[in-house]
Amino acid sequence: MSWTNLARNGRILVVDDAMENIQILHHALRDEHDVLFALDGEKALEVALAQQPDLILLDAVMPGMDGYAVCAALRGSPRLQDIPVIFVTALSQPEDETRALEAGAVDFISKPFNVAVVRARVRSQLTIKRQADAMRELSMTDGLTGVANRRSFNDALEAEWRRCARAGLPLSVIMIDIDHFKLYNDHYGHQAGDLCLQQVSAAMAGCAARPQDLLARYGGEEFILLLPQEGPEGAEVVARRILDEVRRLQLPHAASPSAPHVSASLGVCTALPPLDNLDSSTLIREADSQLYLAKQGGRNRHCTSTLGPGAA
Ligand code: GH3
Ligand code: MG
Ligand code: MG
Repeated sequence: MSWTNLARNGRILVVDDAMENIQILHHALRDEHDVLFALDGEKALEVALAQQPDLILLDAVMPGMDGYAVCAALRGSPRLQDIPVIFVTALSQPEDETRALEAGAVDFISKPFNVAVVRARVRSQLTIKRQADAMRELSMTDGLTGVANRRSFNDALEAEWRRCARAGLPLSVIMIDIDHFKLYNDHYGHQAGDLCLQQVSAAMAGCAARPQDLLARYGGEEFILLLPQEGPEGAEVVARRILDEVRRLQLPHAASPSAPHVSASLGVCTALPPLDNLDSSTLIREADSQLYLAKQGGRNRHCTSTLGPGAA
């Protein structure tokens, strides 16, 4: 287990150009939290990116990049914008406090420090952060299966589409629909149907392992897999793996005209670079058309197409 997993009660980044202040805050917080530090603004951003702290205590006045500039940079970075910042400063005018809050700070601590106040404020901001993280996680996840929901799929698709377009890379999606699932519910009951959805999604979740791959529940018994930077050959491999994994579950489906076990049909589509003349909704529509063809062709299979230059 790495030390990051041992984080007791959140990881806090203390940013101050005076070593003495860092020492005081470290001393105040080290029993309850993992404390990182940085002596200037640039270093603070570097550490924040690498270590993803849960909270930043930020000195307002520093030579070079001051606290306000650091705060603005944090808010402008998608990977850092959700980290709460408490400003720490000897400035005590209401305007200073206002300016800190306007820069995006969630709270304000004055120097000289009162250790009990520092600890209490840190604790309360960490609690709020944890609740916000849990809410975000819930809002992005499908309750039944635990995979991503349609909304987070759409967000990821837009982000990955832009990334692939810039980098001149392909992007593939696989639309997956369980075969004769209405008959499954009718035959085994809705609860068994729910369990089936959980088992099938768990089996599919292991089929694409790269960090940017994303499996989502798209609708009732319909799933979708996002494969950024993946061309037709790679998407083909993953599609076959999904069919195999679902078959391997051997979930009996006595009512299915297509197979004795639960099966799925897949529509695969790859957008080939350059993506500039294509758009993501066309890709989804095309994957859906391929899924329709797989259903028409007898189910328990996949159909594939490509979009873009030289598309087949
Ligand atoms: P096809 O092979 O053409 O896809 O046929 P199908 O029966 O799977 O497709 P259809 O769209 O007719 O029916 C989908 C069924 O999925 C109907 C619906 O009750 C069921 N379903 C959707 N969401 C859930 C769910 O969360 N739990 C359960 N148990 N069933 C669900
Ligand atoms: Mg179906
Ligand atoms: Mg369906």
